[in-house]
Amino acid sequence: MEVYNHDLVILGSGLAGLRAALEASQQSKGELDIALVSKLQLMRAHSVAAEGGTAAVMRQDEGDNYELHAWDTVKGSDFLADQNVVEFFVNEMPREILHLDHWGIPWSRREDGRIAQRPFGGHTYPRAVFAADKTGLLEMQTLYDTLMKHTNKLNRYDEVFVTSILIEDGKFEGLTALDMINGKYVLIRGKALILATGGAGQIFGFTTYSETVTGDGLAMAYRAGLPLKDMEFVQFHPTGLIPSGILMTEACRGEGGYLLNNKGERFMEKYAAGAMELAPRDMVSRSEMTEIEAGRGFAGPEGLDYMHLDLRHLGRDKILERLPLIREVTMKHIGLDPIEKPIPIRAVAHYSMGGVHTDIKGHTPLENVWAAGEVACVSLHGANRLGANSTAECLVWGRVTGGEAARYCAANSLDKKISIQAEQEWGKMEALISSMGKEDHYKIRKELRKTLDKNMGVFRTGQEMQTGLDKIRKLKERYKHISLKDKGLRYNTDLIRAVETGFMLDVAEVATLGGLTRTESRGGHARRDFAARDDENWLKHTMAHYTEEGPRLDYIPVDISMWKPVERKY
Ligand SMILES: Cc1cc2nc3c(=O)[nH]c(=O)nc-3n(C[C@H](O)[C@H](O)[C@H](O)COP(=O)(O)OP(=O)(O)OC[C@H]3O[C@@H](n4cnc5c(N)ncnc54)[C@H](O)[C@@H]3O)c2cc1C
Repeated sequence: MEVYNHDLVILGSGLAGLRAALEASQQSKGELDIALVSKLQLMRAHSVAAEGGTAAVMRQDEGDNYELHAWDTVKGSDFLADQNVVEFFVNEMPREILHLDHWGIPWSRREDGRIAQRPFGGHTYPRAVFAADKTGLLEMQTLYDTLMKHTNKLNRYDEVFVTSILIEDGKFEGLTALDMINGKYVLIRGKALILATGGAGQIFGFTTYSETVTGDGLAMAYRAGLPLKDMEFVQFHPTGLIPSGILMTEACRGEGGYLLNNKGERFMEKYAAGAMELAPRDMVSRSEMTEIEAGRGFAGPEGLDYMHLDLRHLGRDKILERLPLIREVTMKHIGLDPIEKPIPIRAVAHYSMGGVHTDIKGHTPLENVWAAGEVACVSLHGANRLGANSTAECLVWGRVTGGEAARYCAANSLDKKISIQAEQEWGKMEALISSMGKEDHYKIRKELRKTLDKNMGVFRTGQEMQTGLDKIRKLKERYKHISLKDKGLRYNTDLIRAVETGFMLDVAEVATLGGLTRTESRGGHARRDFAARDDENWLKHTMAHYTEEGPRLDYIPVDISMWKPVERKY
């Protein structure tokens, strides 16, 4: 085993991880020794797939303001967002847009030269700043280029798969990882950790997320004793391409696209006559499913009945200028040109509102651990996230946690003593590699994803979630008897997939139990058997703690310092 010592360890090199690394480097004038760890090559984090935009108030002179962005976010969250967190966020965001601008990002611009903004669901003002429909990719490139100018001590650990977070005496000690390229076990130690591992979209079968988004960081933090918050809240995005689930960005509707049923009707008129297609995602997804269940959808493959996303009336020029990626994807994947034909879409699992519990500064309950981006639950999105608020969250809390952790590193030293936990973790990996069980972990993953699709979908019932939970627990039992075909260490994707599936099982169990226990409907959690929101009993955050027997749940209050909950109408 090789041991590497650093000041700050950042796990994940997506938007949140890169923004954190940049802030920590700037603050230390490039002298902080940073380990940036990723199981992928740097530019392959899911963040590069973000298409539509990043929300910020940029037009106070033209009618937008912070309070409005805050209100939209809180109402969108179905009042589960912490309002102090939302207030902090909306005030911080414009600066992030300007930083990126100064660092050279090619934001799309208006005729008058100002930064352009497009409408997005649930935002009452066109607030999404964008770079065509490749916003995430260009944000990532800009952050990385700028990081290179500000650091003298960046250590990249690309294609290094982390298997556990070691905690010793109540503090982060290091990460155990498999260096995939060299086929070696490594221990990466640091004075502080920023967790930036993204979401868990792959626990669903029909999802917009990359193959690699398997909830590793969520499960590792949970196993290390950190609580997971609000995991039952999963966002379904209204427009996933049939049959793959690839995202057709909300910018399609932001630019004026229609949603049509099989009668050619813009059905959103019935559900949100004011906001129409730009109502929040939870509502649009439910409206689509209601239409499909009433027989007003189109018959699709493998039960994936669908609706139409119609862009034709936008015209060729606008589609080519504003939505080039969408056209490229539909042409490549299903041979359809959206200039000529409507796109087949349906609601698709998209985002984890829940995550590792942090305070307003992204600080977890452990002294030297912070979390930022999708893996974290700082409680900005509550029960339903607004589009374009997630890349924004990554920027704000990447910066905040980068600064906080850098200050911590400057004031503390690295513990010299190395615990024996790493050796124990390698023992587990060795046991997994040499295991001779009869179960196939690829099958277990497939069954898990089907189970979530079926029982934790847009609409849920107690009975379905109970069935789902029972199945997940059976799969966990079967997982104990898997075996691997690849017995080596170099690029052992068999091992990595197996470990990931173990992570996914834990995350799925927490989400499903949280949903089953929460007997109300709120935001992305829509129960047929408890159709109303129940503020009296459920205006609170779910906290899931790891135990040997399964998750233990308790609850903490929501900050409602600005607005009392009211009915959501759009
Ligand atoms: C298709 C798509 C489009 C989207 N469009 C938008 C949009 O327009 N606007 C918006 O606001 N949001 C959008 N989102 C959501 C947003 O992009 C994500 O929430 C955000 O980019 C997540 O960034 P992150 O830095 O938290 O994680 P990620 O970008 O997912 O990065 C995670 C990092 O963690 C590393 N990692 C994970 N597990 C391990 C492990 N075991 N060992 C080592 N490394 C590990 C990965 O290698 C990666 O580097 C979109 C999401 C998708 C899927």
